Amino acid sequence: MSVLAYVESFKGKIKKNALEIVSYSRELAIKLDTNLVTIVLNVDDTSELNKHGASKVLKVTNSELESFDAKLYANVIAQAAKANNSNYIVLSSSLDTRYLAPLLSIELEAGYISNVVELPSSLNPFTIKRTSFTNKAFCDSTIDSDIKIIGLSSNAFGISENNTEGLLEDFNPTLSEKKITINSTEKVSGKISIADADIVVSAGRGLKGPENWNIIEELAETLGAATACSKPVSDMGWRPHSEHVGQTGKPVATNLYIAIGISGAIQHLAGINSSKIKVVINNDPEAPFFKAADYGVVGDAFDVVPRLTEKLKAFKA
Ligand SMILES: Cc1cc2nc3c(=O)[nH]c(=O)nc-3n(C[C@H](O)[C@H](O)[C@H](O)COP(=O)(O)OP(=O)(O)OC[C@H]3O[C@@H](n4cnc5c(N)ncnc54)[C@H](O)[C@@H]3O)c2cc1C
Repeated sequence: MSVLAYVESFKGKIKKNALEIVSYSRELAIKLDTNLVTIVLNVDDTSELNKHGASKVLKVTNSELESFDAKLYANVIAQAAKANNSNYIVLSSSLDTRYLAPLLSIELEAGYISNVVELPSSLNPFTIKRTSFTNKAFCDSTIDSDIKIIGLSSNAFGISENNTEGLLEDFNPTLSEKKITINSTEKVSGKISIADADIVVSAGRGLKGPENWNIIEELAETLGAATACSKPVSDMGWRPHSEHVGQTGKPVATNLYIAIGISGAIQHLAGINSSKIKVVINNDPEAPFFKAADYGVVGDAFDVVPRLTEKLKAFKA
């Protein structure tokens, strides 16, 4: 038996959530009194994983796996699980892994629980806590299949340092026929993506129009943050759809989420409530967002935001 952690990567580099996946998987392996095996696809440097407890790392290098293909990736992870006798597979709860996990589940005849927030509370029956109803509640779920797939929620467990001497092993899976060909990919360049950001500065209809986003961008730039927005803002074309966060947009699980001129509708909160610290700037003291905020500023965004940016710049200098 072993725990297999699948770590996502982009262009040869491990993604931000990788260290949390490894930290969690290590603790799970300790709890199960078994070994941890970590699999990476086309990653150049895996040493960071060893600092967080990855003892054995399976390195797959294959140009066919350069772009994400859920079926192909699921098949490679399944082969690694079989080769390492892994009964427990840990993945993130990113869009890509939520796509591949059900396919992996079919290949391995495994039960799958997504949005997991803790280590299992019981091993027999295997019971684990997850969020439900778009993060508004928790529930304890049980898996009774031999093989279990755990999709860990971002920022749920945290990162722990555990310097481990790593064993790096090349793993050469047999690749099934590629069904998807990606002709081109477009990535917003020069900007921090919401998924990779530690801080997100987000704004809503309170900003009145796209011409006012300069104050949001300046604050984001000062903080090294990504920019985001509420749904109506992207619907009206004030901002690109890639910035829309919430229940029907991107989920945000950052360390700091700054919401400016956003009312805090339930559908917006559903997407951001995994963020650790929420700061709200709104001129209406009754805005629902204040109930979810860790820190709140009641004031006009056009007055508060430039002053905040100025103070931050002075502090950084
Ligand atoms: C099925 C469904 C799915 C949805 N999914 C999403 C989703 O994923 N994400 C999402 O965001 N929404 C979603 N919505 C829409 C959601 O219900 C809200 O309508 C939306 O979030 C409101 O956006 P807003 O806060 O920007 O605008 P508003 O509700 O208009 O709020 C603007 C806020 O700005 C404040 N304000 C105004 N002027 C200033 C100023 N000068 N300074 C400071 N504050 C100011 C106001 O007090 C107000 O609180 C969904 C709705 C439905 C029905």
